[in-house]
Amino acid sequence: MTARPLRVAIVGAGMGGLSTAAALRLIGIDVTVYEQASQFARIGAGIQIGCNAMKVLRRLGLEQMLRAQSFYPRSWNNRDWRTGDIKFDMIFGESAEAKFGAPYLLAHRGDLHAALASAVPAECVRLNHKLVGLDETGDGMRLVFANGATATADAVIGADGVHSTVRDILFGTSAVNFTGRIAYRTTYPAALLGEHKIGDCTKWWGEDRHIVIYYVKPDRSEVYLVTSQPEPEFRIESWSAKGDVTELRKAFAGFDREVEQVLAACPDVHKWAIVDRDALPRWREGKVTLLGDACHPMTPYMAQGAAMAIEDAAVLSRCLDGVGPDGVADAFRRFEATRRDRTMRVQETSRRNIWLKEKTDADWVYAYDAWTIPLAA
Ligand SMILES: Cc1cc2nc3c(=O)[nH]c(=O)nc-3n(C[C@H](O)[C@H](O)[C@H](O)COP(=O)(O)OP(=O)(O)OC[C@H]3O[C@@H](n4cnc5c(N)ncnc54)[C@H](O)[C@@H]3O)c2cc1C
Repeated sequence: MTARPLRVAIVGAGMGGLSTAAALRLIGIDVTVYEQASQFARIGAGIQIGCNAMKVLRRLGLEQMLRAQSFYPRSWNNRDWRTGDIKFDMIFGESAEAKFGAPYLLAHRGDLHAALASAVPAECVRLNHKLVGLDETGDGMRLVFANGATATADAVIGADGVHSTVRDILFGTSAVNFTGRIAYRTTYPAALLGEHKIGDCTKWWGEDRHIVIYYVKPDRSEVYLVTSQPEPEFRIESWSAKGDVTELRKAFAGFDREVEQVLAACPDVHKWAIVDRDALPRWREGKVTLLGDACHPMTPYMAQGAAMAIEDAAVLSRCLDGVGPDGVADAFRRFEATRRDRTMRVQETSRRNIWLKEKTDADWVYAYDAWTIPLAA
């Protein structure tokens, strides 16, 4: 008699949850993803897909789709806010692709999410399922949802983001760390810029604030901007909260002409309080593990939060390969042991907001290959 496939429940259909579902399906695991939202919304944001994440996405069969939909920048340029002087130009394009083994792409967040969703059959995703309870029964793990439904699985992966319910259930509720800073962000048609030209991808470094501007479409038809500046009183942390574009322009008055032109053309913005957490002492308990922002949320300053969740997916799938229900707890231990140091280092580096500000050795981030790095014993 052949053993039945391992049944894994993933909580959260964000970047990490969908990547993990796709990676586990590749090795024959029976996956169901439970997502609280009733539908997938296209959030107006850009996302940088590092070469390290692209190596994972390639094996998930998404490289061609993402190349066709995303912008391929020559570099991530770092410039002084006022003089425009180049502080460090991190070259991507073909030379980095050859060096790191995959392209560096700038995408619309909605396109990346849709690509990930296309790698997971719709029947494996249960929308409108907000997890509210989790306990171990003789039959495995039992999940309880706000809509009254229940489910059982051999293992549970909490990919439910920075406000993870799975983490709260395992380790108790703890507050996020508000950094005292906010981000304005938006995408808009590049046609609104008229004749004005912008760089492929530029981070403009000010004294206590910065703004990052890049294209998110291969034909340069859509622009994205995201900022960071102090505003300690603002504590709304939501993808849908609106900001005031006049306030945004005021906050970046005096920045280089290119920034002023991008902000002058900007029709509308969202506003977001930037949060992170300290590294968690533990990510797992028995047959339950956390992954992505649920266990290592970070400030967005390295553009690596989703990349870490996507790397997690690949490493976790390797740890679970060939494992039965009795081996799950050990596989989760290996997963945490393999990933902890790297994600902590990225969390800490992100928090300091120094990434690529000056000449930086970026190899340790982009050369990482989640499919081949040695797994912890
Ligand atoms: C302004 C900004 C810019 C960023 N830019 C980049 C970038 O350029 N590159 C990059 O790599 N990263 C970037 N990041 C980070 C990135 O967005 C996150 O790290 C990434 O989304 C984490 O993925 P995740 O799957 O862990 O969590 P999420 O993507 O947040 O997904 C969590 C999912 O779980 C669901 N959920 C939550 N609770 C429950 C529940 N109880 N039951 C069921 N479902 C639940 C949520 O609805 C959501 O769908 C940025 C972040 C911000 C804020």
